[in-house]
Amino acid sequence: MTDGARAATRPGMPPREAETHCPYCALQCGMVLRDSGDRVEVLPRQFPTNRGGLCQKGWTATELLDHPDRLTTPLLRDPASGELRPATWEAALDRVAAGIGAVRSAHGRDAVAVFGGGGLTNEKAYALGKFARVALRTRNIDYNGRWCMSSAAAAGIRAFGIDRGLPFPLADLARADTLLMVGANPAETMPPLMRHVTDQRERGGRLIVVDPRVTATARQADLHLQPLPGTDLAVANALLHIAVTEGLVDKAYIDARTTGFEEVRRTVAGYWPAEVERLCGVPVADLEETVRALASGSAIILTARGAEQHAKGVDTVSAFINLALALGLPGRPGSGYGCLTGQGNGQGGREHGQKADQLPGYRKIDDPAARAHVAGVWGVDPDDLPGPGVPAYQLLDSLGTPGGPRALLVFGSNPVVSAPRAGRVTERLRGLDLLVVADFLLSETAALADVVLPVAQWAEEEGTMTNLEGRVLRRRALRPPPPGVRTDLDVLAGLAARLTGTDAAFPTDPRTVFAELRRASAGGPADYAGVTWERIERDEGAFWPCPDPDGPDTPRLFADRFPTPDGRARFHPVSHRPAAEEVCAEYPLHFTTGRVLAQYQSGTQTRRVAALRKAAPRGFVELHPDLADRLGVEEGDELVVTSRRGELRAPARLSPAIRPDTVFAPFHWGGAARANSVTNDATDPVSGMPEFKICAVRVEKA
Ligand code: SF4
Repeated sequence: MTDGARAATRPGMPPREAETHCPYCALQCGMVLRDSGDRVEVLPRQFPTNRGGLCQKGWTATELLDHPDRLTTPLLRDPASGELRPATWEAALDRVAAGIGAVRSAHGRDAVAVFGGGGLTNEKAYALGKFARVALRTRNIDYNGRWCMSSAAAAGIRAFGIDRGLPFPLADLARADTLLMVGANPAETMPPLMRHVTDQRERGGRLIVVDPRVTATARQADLHLQPLPGTDLAVANALLHIAVTEGLVDKAYIDARTTGFEEVRRTVAGYWPAEVERLCGVPVADLEETVRALASGSAIILTARGAEQHAKGVDTVSAFINLALALGLPGRPGSGYGCLTGQGNGQGGREHGQKADQLPGYRKIDDPAARAHVAGVWGVDPDDLPGPGVPAYQLLDSLGTPGGPRALLVFGSNPVVSAPRAGRVTERLRGLDLLVVADFLLSETAALADVVLPVAQWAEEEGTMTNLEGRVLRRRALRPPPPGVRTDLDVLAGLAARLTGTDAAFPTDPRTVFAELRRASAGGPADYAGVTWERIERDEGAFWPCPDPDGPDTPRLFADRFPTPDGRARFHPVSHRPAAEEVCAEYPLHFTTGRVLAQYQSGTQTRRVAALRKAAPRGFVELHPDLADRLGVEEGDELVVTSRRGELRAPARLSPAIRPDTVFAPFHWGGAARANSVTNDATDPVSGMPEFKICAVRVEKA
């Protein structure tokens, strides 16, 4: 029987239950799993974030536990036939170790790379980072979270000195007189969150949404600003321009708690609302109404992928943080700035060492003091730790190229579908000497691998996740993995034993790993030293930083000071610039990507759930009826969307919700409907975030 299960299931015994959280998004809705022997049910659970609610993905999550596509034996590619064939664990791990050894001998340690995921538990993310630095001693590790919140993370650090997606509990949304959501669509991506928005509006609060599409969230808004994709930064600067000219900025707050406002004030002085209206298409009156609402009481500004997934994503988020600071919002009750993190452990996954430039506790890998601390916990010489690697897309784009990695280990990610310019990434993966994928389903990336390792899934493992509030949660196992399946921690231990002669540094018990993570994070920005599993269970989670087991955790940041050297938040002047690729005669339309309610990320899991497949069976191309008229397209016509990088084919879905100059496709599908065949691989110079949200395309009937 696994920890967290309330009773064993045997004939005559009561059902086994586990209180845990949904496997999918960063809301990490609380749920109860009940195994009655013949079926596993999801039951509602009262938890502060979801208050008993779940979306369709959560209700159906257990369908994958016994899914016929479940991998239960390692697979090795047979050199003669080119097919993946079942193999023993010994043979599979031996093959991986031998392949790594051969690549290292021929090309050096950095020729082996690791690619992680924002869905891995804290323990797995931590162990993976340690494995790369200690067992492989490669600098080349990064993860798919780079494509999720990295722009907000970078902007948050440079303004506040810390990156915690929401610096306050989610329930604080209800306390805001005005909520401004920029490029965020929680009504579709995390519906239970909208309960807090409903509370806010029942209190008389206002919801204002900035989004190029009339999304499910925008439909609920009191005011919807619908800018041209890629112009959010100009909108933010115009809002601050109006705040300055109308005398709405909080001068006392700016003087007492910030630095750098004067330069920002000079920058936004040039963002005349009428000019911004011409650039973005947002009426001046709507800009004015937005600023006046934000300045008239408590207010929260939230950004998400729509604002962040751009080659200027960091600057765009900075522009909204500048606005929040000028209005005196961060650190005030019911007010502030926050980012809605996307992936299940998008927050914890970016704190403990999967990122190319990072060590556990959100420490920088090029900081000598950080290296010394973590090396001490790991029992290695600081000089033996590799330096920083490169961000995710650059890493994948270098695979198999001269000087680039020749072997890649992938855990919890499917870049063949989720990477920008995915056709090129797929070719890079094909060019490797060794591709190893650990997953519980044969994703599109696993299908290319030389070795596939079947690993446990969420209801079969213990550990912790950190949700979008920075609240550390317990993931509890309902039952052990099926025969033939191992945990990711087992895989790392098995490989470490083969590569280094011992697995002593890679425990397989997640509680032991978490205890080490706490020590490694102690004193860092994301300090988990005081977070224990017992505390999480007692208090419905613990908010980091939490340095002392007997001291308080930190649900709300910034009340008195910001964690910067002088305790002040920093304004950062930013200017609008065009998208990396603009429309032209050959590619006359804007293309943007996003999500649908019934699918999650690259769809490896949700595309296999019957109810979700029925609700969202395939990809589509959304376009405005006026554009469809111009193109002679009718609902359901097969379309080809072509950019400079590739094409996608999917049926037309006509909707007045989108601008007539823009087309949209969800990114959950591979194959011909793969939206990322088209997307632009231009990246933000600070965060490495690719420009998923805008590129230039043409649309034709197939
Ligand atoms: S909102 Fe997110 S965490 Fe909640 S049930 Fe849906 S997918 Fe799961």
